[in-house]
Amino acid sequence: MKTTYSRREALRVAALGIIGGGGATTQAQAQEPDAMKTPVADPKAIKTRVASCNCGQLSVTCTGPDPDRVVMCNCFLCQKQTGSPFSLQARFPNEQVKIEGKSTAWKFPIEGAGRTKYRTCAGSDGLKTDSAADLVTSHFCPVCGSTVYYYRKSDPARTGVKVGAFADPTFPPPMGSGFEEYAHPWTKKLADLPMPLGHGK
Ligand SMILES: [Zn+2]
Ligand SMILES: [Zn+2]
Repeated sequence: MKTTYSRREALRVAALGIIGGGGATTQAQAQEPDAMKTPVADPKAIKTRVASCNCGQLSVTCTGPDPDRVVMCNCFLCQKQTGSPFSLQARFPNEQVKIEGKSTAWKFPIEGAGRTKYRTCAGSDGLKTDSAADLVTSHFCPVCGSTVYYYRKSDPARTGVKVGAFADPTFPPPMGSGFEEYAHPWTKKLADLPMPLGHGK
């Protein structure tokens, strides 16, 4: 497989070869993003993290230890909302969250609408008659459209924040993944993808 490296990555690969005493550098080592090498910070340490939309007018500042619930979801509700094969979100206690800027709210299940033909992480599906509908209120920027935060009726003490809105590759990884039956199969084999694509740094 042909692999294209940016100049910086090529230098790092060369350096790894030198450090390794001239031994072969595996592709896995060569492709490991810098962020993966960042030492794990103390999860209990108080940190201030800012999530924001693309235009910047809507932001959520979270001050506290690492969130105890970081989850990825593959359900179609999350896929349609993010335009991505899965969503990733973290929940923070409301008292640790400060919201600034304008947002538009969107509720799911949609009032008066029928049940969906697929399961969702907010319930309201027509596949499981015992599926208890939750109510998720998502807040997105009316200017640029990024969904930044949300509330779940079943978890009123916490605010959910979209992890991508932090634009921070060192953010704690998900504790798990849900709605696997809707997952794009390749997302379970990311290491097999021909990366990097040479977008540079
Ligand atoms: Zn915006
Ligand atoms: Zn979902």
